[in-house]
Parts: sequence; C-alpha cells; structure tokens
Amino acid sequence: MKQADLLTRTVKENPKDEISLNAKLLTRAGFVDKLASGIYTYLPLGLRVLSKIENIVREEMNSVGAQEILMPSLLPKDNWEKTGRWNVEEMYKIHDENLGLGWTHEEIITPLMKKHILSSHDLPKAIYQIQSKFRNEPRAKSGILRGREFLMKDLYSFHNNEESLNEYYERIKKAYFRIYERCGLKDKTYLTLAGGGTFSSSSHEFQTITSAGEDIIYICKECGNAINKEVFDKKCSCGGKDFIEEKAIEVGNIFKLGTKYSKVFDLKDENGKHLIMGCYGLGVSRLMGAIVEVFNDDKGMMWPKNVAPFSIHLVSLDMGDNDVKQKAEEIYDILQNSNLEVLYDNRDEKTAGEKLNDCDLIGIPMRIVISQKTLKEESVEIKKRGEEKTELLKIKDLIDFLKNDIQDI
Ligand code: ATP
Ligand code: MG
Repeated sequence: MKQADLLTRTVKENPKDEISLNAKLLTRAGFVDKLASGIYTYLPLGLRVLSKIENIVREEMNSVGAQEILMPSLLPKDNWEKTGRWNVEEMYKIHDENLGLGWTHEEIITPLMKKHILSSHDLPKAIYQIQSKFRNEPRAKSGILRGREFLMKDLYSFHNNEESLNEYYERIKKAYFRIYERCGLKDKTYLTLAGGGTFSSSSHEFQTITSAGEDIIYICKECGNAINKEVFDKKCSCGGKDFIEEKAIEVGNIFKLGTKYSKVFDLKDENGKHLIMGCYGLGVSRLMGAIVEVFNDDKGMMWPKNVAPFSIHLVSLDMGDNDVKQKAEEIYDILQNSNLEVLYDNRDEKTAGEKLNDCDLIGIPMRIVISQKTLKEESVEIKKRGEEKTELLKIKDLIDFLKNDIQDI
C-alpha cells in the first residue's frame, strides 16, 4: 500500500474527548474514528489489525472442531423473556418493542440447536460466530476496550455428559492461550478464576495485565494462575499463599453453563436428558485495544508481528531525488512480489522527521529507510520498532535478509 494513497493521515494532537491510551494512539495514527461514546469506525489500518486478530481466533476455533455460523443481531423479545434476560441493563431495545439488539446469543443458539442436534450421535457439537455485539455500557470510557458496539467471538458447546464438557473446556483453555500467544500477549495473560456472575465456580477469565485494566487479579506465585479479586480468599486451589496483585483487563471468559439454557428451551437428547452447555467468549476488538495498551512507548504503538497492519514500513526520504525515488519504487515492487506486506511512504510533501515520527506512531515492526545517504552505499537502513539500533544493509541482500529475519521481527 502506498501511503500517499492511504485514506487516513496521522495527527499530532491527542483527541480531546478520549481518556484512554488505546483510543488516543489509535485515533492519532488513523486506525479508528470515534462516532459516539463506545462506538468506533475501523479505518483501513485498524481494520487490517482487527481482521488479523479475527483470523487468528477463527483458525484456533476451527482447530478445536468448532463450526462457524453467523446469527442475527436483531433478536425477538420472546426468546429473552424465557430466560428472564429481556430487562437486563446490557440490552438495547429498539422502537419495535418485540426486538432487541444482541449482546450475547444463548437465547438464539439454544433453540437453533433443537433443529440440528437430534440425538446423542450428533454430540458433542461446538458452534461459534464472530460478530458485532451491542451492550448498553454505562462505563464506555476505555476506547475500544469497552465498546457499546464491539466485535466478539462467541462459541457454544453442547454435550450429553459432564466429562465431555470438561474435556472440551480444557481444550478451549489451550486454544485461548494459543490465541493470546499468537497476538504477542502470552507473558501478560493469566488464566483467572472468575469473579462475579452466577457461575463463578465453573468459570474462568483470561486476564491481560495492563494499567488500563478494570479488574484486580492475584497471581499465585506457586502455580502461575490467578484469582479475580471478587472471589479472592487469600488461598489458591493449588495451596499457594503468595500472590502478586495486578490490574488487568478481561480478554476472554469461559463458562460451564450446565443445563441452564437447555432447560429453558427444552433442548434434549433422545433419552429426554437436557444437554449440558459451555459458552466461551472472546473480545476480538478488546484484544486489539489490550495489545495497544501493552505494546507502546512515548512515540506510539508497537505491534507484535502477527497482528501488525503491515510487516514492513518502507520509507523513502529525499523524494525530490529521482534516483532515490526510482530505487524506492523498485524495492517496493520487489517486496510486494515477495508477498511481504509493505506500507510504502512515498509522500513527497512530508519532511524526513514527519515520516519517521509517523513510523513510530503507526508502529509497524520493521522500518526500511532509503535516502540519498543510504543509496550512496547501495544500501538501505533497517530498524526494528522498539529498538534504537539501526543497521545498513546492501540492497542486493535485502530480500534474503527479510526472508530470514521476518520470522523473528
Ligand atoms: P466485563 O466484565 O469486562 O464487562 P463481561 O463479563 O461482560 O466483561 P462477557 O459477557 O463474558 O464479558 O463477554 C465475553 C468477552 O467479550 C469478554 O471477556 C471481553 O473480552 C469482551 N467484552 C465484553 N464486554 C465488552 C465491551 N463492552 N467491549 C469490548 N469487549 C467486551
Ligand atoms: Mg460486562
């Protein structure tokens, strides 16, 4: 992508109406645009990141045998009245008094499964979607960490015995950790005994440590798992008694629902036994916000390679010099043809300083600069975001270098 053609521009000033760091940086760099409190447009750079996270989530869900569907967002009141969740705070209602906007989907998936799970032979089944959710969030001040409209992956599993649910629950824990690992958050994310809610004894959260977090967790020094402050009683189930207190944001939440919803909607096997359900949520857009909160410095964002909008930011300084310009175009074509994702700063009205500041703000993992100075050496200058060190590299060696190096940017 040529930066001169990019829809968005960066801005120096923080938006006046944003408090959270993720919203400030994402807005200044042109990744998102706030429409109203907790409601954001994802602009080209932002959508690239969101889609990458979405695909990681999708791949990992498919890897545990879950099948993807897409349920509607506009949902009939009848279903919600059956479970007593029509009048909860989260539910947005619309002027048609028989419909509301989906903030979760147990009320839809459970009756849907009655048409498809006809006997025990059809079990277990795991069905998920990745979809915009709507929630009336009174505290929508945390940028994309807490939206009133946000992207969530919700997975529901159906079983006819506890062992099957327990086994699937453990597989999902592992899949979730693979997701956070691929998003660069492995060292920051803890399996946490969940606080609040109705099902806390059979529910876990995945909490990512960040000062922007709204939860307090206690990480057990013995086993490395954590406990949410809301259920903390000074002792871990492993016996550990030493803890580290941290602020954290919930990036995922898994529940053993039991027969709560299958009873309401009468979802049974052929022996008349109500199915046992699990549900597994993951905030795709919140994860993007959490990544920004974790990976940044005073100059901007620092995307982990798997979720970066591009892997390489190619910057041509001295665009007035035809030789530099021509070489830059040539390198851009070579990189594109090598299937590398490149944002090429070919703008000629920007100063070197402005271009390099933009690189830091946008946060692409590797910067490649070409200028009169580097071209004299038949070289480009390479720098990784987050490192101070720069390195001159012969242009003829560039592709080989990138092919080897792109793995560990
Ligand atoms: P929280 O306690 O933060 O409000 P929750 O318990 O209401 O979260 P769930 O209903 O379990 O969340 O939703 C599943 C996942 O969706 C959460 O783990 C979180 O990652 C994400 N999520 C929940 N609410 C929001 C929101 N308002 N904006 C963005 N992501 C959200
Ligand atoms: Mg909530």
